Amino acid sequence: MTPALPSATTGCQAAPVLRERGQREVFCGLTGIIWLHRKVQDAFFLVVGSRTCAHLLQSAAGVMVFAEPRFGTAIIEERDLAGLADCNEELDRVVDRLLARRPDIKLLFLVGSCPSEVIKLDLSRAASRLSVKHAGSTKVLNYSGSGIETTFTEGEDACLAALVPELPADSAPGLLIVGTLPDVVEDQFLRLFADLGIANVHAFPARRAGAMPPVGPNTRFLLAQPFLGETARALEDRGAVRLDALFPFGAEGTTNWLHAAAQAFGIDEMHFRRVIAPGRERAKRAIAHSRTRLEGKRVTFLPDSQLEIPLARFLATELGMTPVEVGTPYLHRRHLAQELALLPADTLISEGQDVDLQLDRVRAAQPDLTVCGLGLANPLEAEGLTTKWAIELVFSPIHGFDQAGDLAELFARPLRRRDVLRV
Ligand code: SF4
Repeated sequence: MTPALPSATTGCQAAPVLRERGQREVFCGLTGIIWLHRKVQDAFFLVVGSRTCAHLLQSAAGVMVFAEPRFGTAIIEERDLAGLADCNEELDRVVDRLLARRPDIKLLFLVGSCPSEVIKLDLSRAASRLSVKHAGSTKVLNYSGSGIETTFTEGEDACLAALVPELPADSAPGLLIVGTLPDVVEDQFLRLFADLGIANVHAFPARRAGAMPPVGPNTRFLLAQPFLGETARALEDRGAVRLDALFPFGAEGTTNWLHAAAQAFGIDEMHFRRVIAPGRERAKRAIAHSRTRLEGKRVTFLPDSQLEIPLARFLATELGMTPVEVGTPYLHRRHLAQELALLPADTLISEGQDVDLQLDRVRAAQPDLTVCGLGLANPLEAEGLTTKWAIELVFSPIHGFDQAGDLAELFARPLRRRDVLRV
C-alpha cells in the first residue's frame, strides 16, 4: 500500500478554466452560521441585517428558534445617513441587552449582510468599541456574510480569518486541523494523529472560545475544507505553514492528507502505514458497495460550496465516475493543485456562474447525475435529469476513512432511486 500521490500526468492542473460572471444560484455566507454556531459552543452570531436575513437563518435552522439560540438578527430598517448614529446606538443597546441576559456568551460575532443600511455601518469599528466595553467577559469580532461579497461557505472562511489575529502566539511545533468538522470526525482525526505520534495537535475553530489554538512559525496546518483561502492567508501571516495535500475525502484523499502531516513531523513510513491500514481498508471496503452503481456514470457539479473539485476527484479516482463539468464558485488553484492533477484532462472546469448558460450545457451533456443547489434540482428532475442536493454534502459528515462509504452512498442513492422509479 502506498499513500496516494498525484500521478505524473497533470490532469486538469494546467487546463483552461471557463470563467463566468452572471446570475448565480448560491446561498450567501450567512449560511455558515448554521454549522459554526454548533461548533463553538460559547459563541453567538448576531447578524446585522434585514428581515430577509432573519428569514434565511430561521428557515435554514428553524429548530434553534425553540432552544436558547446562539444566533440572532438585529434588524436594521431603511434610514438615511443622518440616522447612522442612531443605528450604532441601537446596535450597542441590542448587544448590551443580549450580553446582560446571556453572560455565557464569550465570543460575539457581528455578521454583516447586504442591505445598504448595513453596508454604511462600520461593523469593525462597532466590534472594537463593544470589545472594549465588554472586556474581560466577551470578545466581539466582526465579519461579512453578505451575499454581495460571499457565497455559501465563504462565510466560514471570513469568520475564521477574523479569529486568526486573536489566536495566542506560540513557537512550539504543532499541527492545526483547519476548518469546521463534526465533533465525531474531528475526534477520529485527533486519535489518528495521536496514534501516529504527532503531539500538540489542535482543531481550529476550537469548541470553546477560550480554547482557541496557539499559532506561530513552527505551526504546520492542514486544511480540512477547500474553501478557506483567506483563513490560510491569515495563518501564513502569523508564520504558520500550510501542508499541501489532497482533501480528506475517500480512502486515498484521507491517506494523502494524513501522510502530508506524517512527513512534516518525521513519522516513520512503516509506522504510518501500520497506523492507517485498518481505517484505509475499512474505507475501501465501504466505498466498494457503491462502486457498481457509480462506475462509468457521468457527473456534473454546479457551483455551490467549493467542495466540488475534491469531490469530483474522489468520484473519478475511487469510484470510476467521469466528471463532465465541475463548477465551483471560486477556484483556489494553489490549494487545489493536487486535486486538479488527478481529474481527467478533458473535464471542463468552470468558475463562477451564469446559470442559464450552465443549464444549457447540462441539458446538452445529459449527465447521469447533476449535483446542484435546491432551487435547480426540481426543475432539472422535471426535465428527466437525476440530481443530488449539494447542500447535503455540506451538512453530512463526509471527511475521513469512516465516512468514506457514506460519502459514496450519498452519490449512489439518487441513481438507485432513479432506477427504482424507472422499473
Ligand atoms: Fe439575502 Fe444578503 Fe441577507 Fe444573505 S445577507 S440573506 S443575500 S440580504
